[in-house]
Amino acid sequence: MILGGGLAGMAAACHLLDEDWQVTLVEKRPYLGGRVFSFTDRESGQVVDNGQHVFLGCCTYYIDFLKKIGTWDRAYLQDRTMVEVVKPGGPSSSIAAGRLPKPLHMLPSFLAYRHLGLWDKLTTVYGLLRLSVTDRANPHLQQETFAQWLRRHRQTQRSIDNFWDLIVKPCANDGVEDVSATMGIMIFQDGILKSPRSSRIGYAREGLSTLMGEAAKAYLESNGATLITGHTATSLHLDEDSQADDPPIAAIQFSNGKTLQADAYVSALPLADLLPLLPSRLADNPFFAPLAALETAPIVNVYLWYDRPVMEQDFVALVDSPLQWVFNKTAIMGHNGVPGQYVTVSLSAAFNYVNQPKQAVQEMCTEAMKEAFPKAKLARVIHSLVVKQERATFRCLPGSHRSRPKPRTPIGNLFLAGDWTDTGWPSTMEGAVRSGVFAAQAVLKAQRE
Ligand SMILES: Cc1cc2nc3c(=O)[nH]c(=O)nc-3n(C[C@H](O)[C@H](O)[C@H](O)COP(=O)(O)OP(=O)(O)OC[C@H]3O[C@@H](n4cnc5c(N)ncnc54)[C@H](O)[C@@H]3O)c2cc1C
Repeated sequence: MILGGGLAGMAAACHLLDEDWQVTLVEKRPYLGGRVFSFTDRESGQVVDNGQHVFLGCCTYYIDFLKKIGTWDRAYLQDRTMVEVVKPGGPSSSIAAGRLPKPLHMLPSFLAYRHLGLWDKLTTVYGLLRLSVTDRANPHLQQETFAQWLRRHRQTQRSIDNFWDLIVKPCANDGVEDVSATMGIMIFQDGILKSPRSSRIGYAREGLSTLMGEAAKAYLESNGATLITGHTATSLHLDEDSQADDPPIAAIQFSNGKTLQADAYVSALPLADLLPLLPSRLADNPFFAPLAALETAPIVNVYLWYDRPVMEQDFVALVDSPLQWVFNKTAIMGHNGVPGQYVTVSLSAAFNYVNQPKQAVQEMCTEAMKEAFPKAKLARVIHSLVVKQERATFRCLPGSHRSRPKPRTPIGNLFLAGDWTDTGWPSTMEGAVRSGVFAAQAVLKAQRE
């Protein structure tokens, strides 16, 4: 039985079905998808995502998942990495992959990158070279922030702001000052330097719900899984008759009073939802006790509908602006004939915005859009929406690895999945899918033992 129908739970279910297991997946909401969902905005009639979701070419488990559920052709992935970086009132410049072999494939565009001076570029190239040969398994790197590592390797504040943070913040939903050095290094080693293809940027060309939750539901049902939606798990009951030090789970209790039993239980719940379900006797268990220390970070997305086009690009990153990344949803979703333009401003690590009134956040973005896109000065915002996710992702702070468990627990028939488990990845769709596959593999391994 799998608890939780987000990407982790759906991926675990697919993997176990492939191995001819009978799978029951229980989800508290009426639909699958978890944090990857979309809804139709009443006023505009357009599909709005819970938050703009981006993936990279190195997200191989996620890409394979979309292929399995039959929606890969409805996602977009660049043929070649190219990010335009806009500076309000200044020049725009691009970072792109060229023809040189890895890890030099970005070097020519980087040398032409206009948001860094010559000295910044030289030190950044030095930092990238040092990073490419760093063993990120070194435990010391778990204890320091990526900013500390960067400064130890002579990175200038300008290169931290206009290069390193530009990439780390959307990937980890935290800036270099907070993210552990291990995670910062991982993002560059696996995402940027590994190959020209690994850093290609991708996103959904339709709403997240149809791309993932609805398609996965159809796939799982047609392959024989039992899906129970609208059921909230409220507690895990241990087998009190067992003589084992850590007795197995006997049943799961749901909010409607029903209990369900299975041979194996995979929790694919967010950590905050799993902890209250655990029996109190596990509170001091050395496996479970450190989990509660994992912190979360917010994301705020601001959706703006303009009466006319304000940007030509499909998406841009920004320096010297509170807007971090802006996506042209009209172009991305193929609605180019529709009048006006619908854009999304994605604010990662939105600690400064999540508690502000929505009106203030919207006004801040509208003003900043005018600075960044001259056409926005003449345009009128005809509709807007602010979506705040207070606990959008877990934080990869120094020491956070201690709170990210492997899928196998001391309870023989309980396995853990979820983006927050020990996947080596930050809180991402790729991490979630990996965790589901790893948990399913752990179930199969335990069965063979
Ligand atoms: C605004 C936002 C923007 C993001 N941007 C990106 C991005 O650009 N790129 C990227 O890769 N990732 C991004 N992420 C992160 C990504 O969405 C998550 O990492 C991923 O979806 C997590 O999947 P999951 O299955 O681990 O957890 P979830 O999706 O949270 O799934 C857990 C499921 O468990 C269910 N559940 C909870 N409690 C119970 C219970 N008691 N009983 C039954 N079911 C229960 C929930 O309803 C949910 O469906 C973003 C997240 C947010 C919020």
